[in-house]
Amino acid sequence: MESIKRNILLNPGPSTTTDTVKYAQVVPDICPREKEFAGLMKTLREDLVKIVHGDLNKYTSVLFCGSGTINIDVCINSLLPEGKKVLIVNNGAYSMRAAEICEYYSLPFINLKFPVDEIPDLEKVEKTLIENPDIALVHTTHNETGTGILNPIREIGALAHKYNAVFTVDTTSTYAMRPIDIEKDNIDFCMASAQKGLMAFTGLSFVVGNKKIIEESAKYPKRSYYCNLYLQYEYFEKTGEMHFTPPVQTIYSTIQALKEYWEEGEEAKWARHTRVFNAINDGLEELGFRQVIKPELRAGLVSSAVYPDDENWSFEKVHDYCYERGFTIYPGKISTTNTFRLCALGAIDEGDIKDFFKVFREALEVTGVCVPVKYNA
Ligand SMILES: *Cc1c(COP(=O)(O)O)cnc(C)c1O
Repeated sequence: MESIKRNILLNPGPSTTTDTVKYAQVVPDICPREKEFAGLMKTLREDLVKIVHGDLNKYTSVLFCGSGTINIDVCINSLLPEGKKVLIVNNGAYSMRAAEICEYYSLPFINLKFPVDEIPDLEKVEKTLIENPDIALVHTTHNETGTGILNPIREIGALAHKYNAVFTVDTTSTYAMRPIDIEKDNIDFCMASAQKGLMAFTGLSFVVGNKKIIEESAKYPKRSYYCNLYLQYEYFEKTGEMHFTPPVQTIYSTIQALKEYWEEGEEAKWARHTRVFNAINDGLEELGFRQVIKPELRAGLVSSAVYPDDENWSFEKVHDYCYERGFTIYPGKISTTNTFRLCALGAIDEGDIKDFFKVFREALEVTGVCVPVKYNA
């Protein structure tokens, strides 16, 4: 097996993969309607539930062919009963995406907004639930990837359940990294994609959630054909297959990635991401960069650094310098502050981050940015 050029991706997914995962895509051609392929998907679906410690009698996973956003779309359009309302607990770009999905489907929703650098005020969440007994679905984002803030999902989930609402959580940027316990965390539905925590490829996304609620949703309004949760679930239960063509090669690589996940282990993997994250924060601090999210509020996977006040600073130039040397940095996603992000996803370790900061420092020096960087106020 020839090794493939290794790039260090510090963007929030897709992430750096191992060569064994890359090569797992190279398989003999197969029609995904063969029994052999359905057999692979059965184990895969169970593994996806086990990652969040779900009881297989109570929870299932439903696969979709698409990027991570398809999961948000599926959950929101499929799990809202007629005449009911969605509550989005929103402190960032990814929860905003859920609000836009409500808008596109013309669903009644409350967009409960909080500042991007603060965790949601639980009293306000509860007050909204009390004042709106027609809320049947509460949605939020676990690690708001736009900033890197960690939301208190267990507490929000407890409130959702206290007022009889289903709780859906976008865990795309924590799943298979930061440990999740679906039941203890009060999650009815969580979601992710193969290219993030699992360190495989784009094309496979999945919702992990409560079977009974999916079965109940059979009688809810059908607002989408391709993105209906019950339709896809029912097809899997009947045939063991995806309703429409699955991303065959991505599924093979995800199966290899899961094998590597179990080999590394939940705890060791989270410890590795934490090492990487700490190395990123140390490196930023050494160069004088400020971050948007206070240390105690960080989810431990995404750092959002503020652009320095230096007329020579150019994200583009610094990006290109690093990119040419095998390191990818990523712009921010906050409308009010100019930021860039460095993320601790993927098959990387702290040594890679040390190598990155040598190149990053050089990029600053070559482009004439003052080191340590400066801020006016
Ligand atoms: C990456 C990500 C998604 C999915 O984004 P796509 O561009 O559709 O892959 C959704 N939610 C969160 C929190 C994410 O980090």
